Amino acid sequence: NDASTVFDLVILGGGSGGYAAALRAAQLGLDVALIEKNKLGGTCLHNGCIPTKALLHAGEIADQARESEQFGVKTTFDGIDMAGVHKYKDDVIAGLYKGLQGLVASRKITYVTGEGRVSSPTTVDVNGERYTGRHLLLATGSVPKSLPGLNIDGDRIISSDHALVLDRVPKSAIVLGGGVIGVEFASAWKSFGADITIIEGLPHLAPLEDENSSKILERAFRKRGIKFNLGTFFQKAEYTADGVKVTLADGKEFEAELLLVAVGRGPVSQGLGYEEAGVALDRGYVLVDEYMQTNVPTISAVGDLVPTLQLAHVGFAEGILVAERLAGLKAVPIDYDGVPRVTYCHPEVASVGITEAKAKELYGADKVVTLKYNLAGNGKSKILKTAGEIKLVQVRDGAVVGVHMVGDRMGEQVGEAQLIYNWEALPAEVAQLIHAHPTQSEALGEAHLALAGKPLHS
Ligand code: FAD
Repeated sequence: NDASTVFDLVILGGGSGGYAAALRAAQLGLDVALIEKNKLGGTCLHNGCIPTKALLHAGEIADQARESEQFGVKTTFDGIDMAGVHKYKDDVIAGLYKGLQGLVASRKITYVTGEGRVSSPTTVDVNGERYTGRHLLLATGSVPKSLPGLNIDGDRIISSDHALVLDRVPKSAIVLGGGVIGVEFASAWKSFGADITIIEGLPHLAPLEDENSSKILERAFRKRGIKFNLGTFFQKAEYTADGVKVTLADGKEFEAELLLVAVGRGPVSQGLGYEEAGVALDRGYVLVDEYMQTNVPTISAVGDLVPTLQLAHVGFAEGILVAERLAGLKAVPIDYDGVPRVTYCHPEVASVGITEAKAKELYGADKVVTLKYNLAGNGKSKILKTAGEIKLVQVRDGAVVGVHMVGDRMGEQVGEAQLIYNWEALPAEVAQLIHAHPTQSEALGEAHLALAGKPLHS
């Protein structure tokens, strides 16, 4: 196929949302063009999920090396070789990138490298050519946001993009923003040996999580020596002789070698012809209905570009939904509360469903029951020397509407929590399921045993 073909679907942006839509649409027999200006895989593969998890894993190994004595293993920790860490991280990315390129080629997707611009409700212009589609999918993602007066110079004041390729471990860093991205870098850099201070304007780290999870995370970070200042907003940043000084609204000052700005990500939607094609935007986000369709009948949008959860697996799901709808299959709207969320710091924070506060708001405080299961009662967590807690939020006598977990590797447990939540299983039903001993998954089973009124190790 070339530009003269009329495609069933022309996709702008080859990140999680765009490529998932392309792969599924092609699988369903649609003729697809996928336009990407940079690298197939987008933020998640090259500047997001995958590289950060590689850094965090390297940090975990550093922590284990430092702490191995408590397991009776003698090692000497000689520090971090950042070039080696990058090689490991880049090898992981390269392997996945190659696999993804192979998939796109094998599904006969017309892949175009270049910066595209929507020129009408059914066309995208790229490299001087016009690609026509019966439908267009906008999937141009997001980029790091900044704050007024804050100049991300890529040197002393950096974004996550710069942090991922930093050639050294900073001696000290201020992390502006205690959300997912901020706490993950804080955690990895601390493991690498940096002195870290997180600045968060809201009252808690991981402020979107259940307050209980945030408090446990704060306790764990304090124990690790990660400093943080909560509840006061940033005012300004200035260069010092050899670093950066940050001043908060209450006058408090912090100094460090580096300032990482992790205050969220904003949609990439300007100058791309979206508004000219009639697409409605809100604060830069493309507005869509529950089937990811914009107000223009031929144009859909997915991923970080739309105002839903900014997660790769949400982008995948939204992309697949669009592909299936356009192929004439029955499309099922996404229940965003049922999407698992993981913050991969040490310890990990994982959740699915709603928080206790939200449940009380929705169902009334007297209807909401909570159960906390401390990982101290879980054999495998004891062996791993990981502390943490699982909290269940139940609407009285009904299904569990929220599962909130903190502890190393809890991200790997959230899959079961997700099934329990999405299948609206009752605690008594989950309590019937036998969990393998000793595993960390047992903790979720035991929490349900306790909620069903028959606690075993709690
Ligand atoms: P993107 O992945 O941003 O892809 C958009 C693509 O569009 C890009 O490749 C871009 O080059 C291309 N593009 C833009 N404009 C044009 C144009 N005009 N023409 C052609 N191409 C264009 N999510 C998780 O689920 N788990 C995690 O652990 C996680 N960790 C993260 C860590 C960090 C540091 C960051 C920054 C993000 C993380 N995320 C994580 C979020 C995840 O990366 C995003 O939700 C996901 O990448 C969104 O996919 P997308 O397709 O909407 O956008």
